[in-house]
Amino acid sequence: MNLTNIGTVKDILSRHGFSFSKGLGQNFIINPDICPKIAEMGNAAEGYGVIEIGTGIGVLTAELAKRADKVCAVEIDSRLLPVLAETLEEFDNVKIFNEDVMKCDLSKIIREEFSGLRTAVCANLPYYITSPIIMMLLESRLPIDSITVMVQKEAAQRLCAKVGSRESGAITVGVNYYGTVKTLFQVSRGSFMPSPNVDSAVIRIDLHGEHRLPEEDEKFFFRVVKSGFSQRRKTISNALSSLMGISKEDVYTALENVGMPKTARIEQLDMEQLIKFSTELKAIVEK
Ligand code: SAM
Repeated sequence: MNLTNIGTVKDILSRHGFSFSKGLGQNFIINPDICPKIAEMGNAAEGYGVIEIGTGIGVLTAELAKRADKVCAVEIDSRLLPVLAETLEEFDNVKIFNEDVMKCDLSKIIREEFSGLRTAVCANLPYYITSPIIMMLLESRLPIDSITVMVQKEAAQRLCAKVGSRESGAITVGVNYYGTVKTLFQVSRGSFMPSPNVDSAVIRIDLHGEHRLPEEDEKFFFRVVKSGFSQRRKTISNALSSLMGISKEDVYTALENVGMPKTARIEQLDMEQLIKFSTELKAIVEK
C-alpha cells in the first residue's frame, strides 16, 4: 500500500471516518522521500528494536518495520487503530501501544520487546509536545543509542544551538549533557497533509550513555537549568531565588567560583561552567 499517495491516504481516512486533530499535532507525511531517509539515518537496521512515537497512518512505521528487527509504536489516538490494522497488515514485527507517550512505560517495552536488540527512537513528533518528549527520553536513563526525530525548524535550531549562546535553551543543555546532536536535513511544509504553517527539520541525537554527574546531582543540575531558562531574561540569582528559594548570596558565590559576574544570565554559561556552577551551588546550599 502506498501511504504517500494522496488519493490512497484520503480513501483510507474517509473509509474509517477519520478527521485530523490539530490538538494532537496530526500532520502526516506525504512526501515519499522523507520516511525512508529517517529510517536509514535513524538506526532502523538489523539488530535494532525501534520505538516510534506517533504513528499517524503508519507511513514511517512501515519504513522502520522493513529495516529493523522490531518496531514498538506508541500512538495516543485510538481512532487510528483500525486504520493501522489495515495499513500495516503485511508486517508481523510491529506492535502498537495505544497510550500517551508521556505516561507510557518505555523501559518495560524495551525490556520485554527488545531482548537482545539495541534500541533507537525514530519519530515525526507531535509539535505541541516536542521538548517535553525529548527531555523525557533524555532524562529517563533508558538504554537508547539514538533519537532521530522530525521537529519544527525553530525547535531544531534551538536543539542544535551552542550552549552559552542566545539561541540555547534548557533542551540544548539536555542534549549536550547526554550526547551530541546534529541536523540531518530540512523538510518543507508541503511534505505534510494537512500542511502546517512552518517548515521542519530532522535531527539526530546520539546518546553516549554516560552520566557526568551522580543521579542526585544530575537532578539538581536540571532543576537549575530549567529554572534558569524559564526566566532567561532575569539574572540567574533572581531566577533561582524566586523559583528554587536559594539565597542570592549563595548564587553569587557559586557564580564567582566559575568566573561569572553576579549579573550573569543562564544563557551566558557554557556547558562546563553550568556543570561546575550547579555542583558548587548544591554543595553550598547543603552545607
Ligand atoms: N508518524 C506519522 C507521520 O509522520 O505521518 C504521524 C506524525 S504526526 C506529526 C504526530 C502523531 O503523534 C499523531 O499521529 C498523533 O496522534 C500522535 N500523538 C500526539 N500526541 C501523542 C502522545 N502524547 N503520545 C503518543 N502519540 C501522540
